[in-house]
Amino acid sequence: MSQRTTTPRAELHTHLGAAVDPVIMWTIAHRQGIRLPVKDYWDFEDLITMGPGKKNRGVFEMDRDYYHLTELIQSSPEAIEEAVHSVIGGGYRKCNLVLQELRFSPMKRNRTGERDLDFIILAALWGMRRAMVEYPQVSAGLIVALDRSFSPAQNAITLEKAIRYAPDGIVGIDICGPDKKSFSMRAHAPLLLRARKAGLGITVHAGETGNLEELRYVVRTIRPERIGHGLCAAKDPKLLKEIAKQGIVLELCPTSNLLNSVVKDVRELHRVIRTFVDHGVRFTVNTDGPEMYRTSVLKEEEFLLSQGIMSEKELARCMRWAFEAAFVRPKKK
Ligand SMILES: [Zn+2]
Repeated sequence: MSQRTTTPRAELHTHLGAAVDPVIMWTIAHRQGIRLPVKDYWDFEDLITMGPGKKNRGVFEMDRDYYHLTELIQSSPEAIEEAVHSVIGGGYRKCNLVLQELRFSPMKRNRTGERDLDFIILAALWGMRRAMVEYPQVSAGLIVALDRSFSPAQNAITLEKAIRYAPDGIVGIDICGPDKKSFSMRAHAPLLLRARKAGLGITVHAGETGNLEELRYVVRTIRPERIGHGLCAAKDPKLLKEIAKQGIVLELCPTSNLLNSVVKDVRELHRVIRTFVDHGVRFTVNTDGPEMYRTSVLKEEEFLLSQGIMSEKELARCMRWAFEAAFVRPKKK
């Protein structure tokens, strides 16, 4: 279905591991000779998407059961080029996304050191560039994800590469992955500071699950432009005020939060989002990964509207915020 008549939209929070059409993933996997755990395409689709009735007990399960396979399939220069290319074009065709920021962890796509990180990043950038030539209406940028499962030294390696390729289309840095006891946000603060000095945008996954202490640290000390999720801020009115005052933009992903049991149910989601609205916190509506969660920015908006969580006017305002908070500069007409 053509989305040409839809209002132009921007999406800021999409993980490459959750964003590629299963049909394309299936072909990429076979072309590379990856031995898949299933032999029927439909079983594969079921394996990498959250179909009806599926729900994770937490973000940890999502990472272990879904991302493990998608990241493996995307772990070569050829695979990542195709993957990135398909997401940028797909977003434009399906949702009229004229601005898209796509994030991925290069170090989770180098087959534990077997592949060269530079070539993984360059291939991702090339896939993005190709898509932007094919779809000249689209502005896109890649966010390089550091990961909670890696040490500060490992993440520093990734960061230096992100800085090196910033002129080619790396626009920001993120810290992803489920909570881990071994991870210290404090130990990563110097890396984020370095990223900022180098001109990269900063977004951090924080407050997706219940770690309010870490979220406070991120807001007060790291002071990023954007935060991935940030839901648990809703429990702390003082922190909400600080987020609003600093102009930090939260990247919300409603369906993902429901399917990963980050919020208990629609009622809780309703309460959290209304708390943000009431406190003047700016936020954007995203998918976290349209294919894995079988959603899109349009579907997310329709969902929030149909559940009476947000009005059309509020959703349009969120979309304006998305364009304003983007690290990518939209194309000049
Ligand atoms: Zn995310």
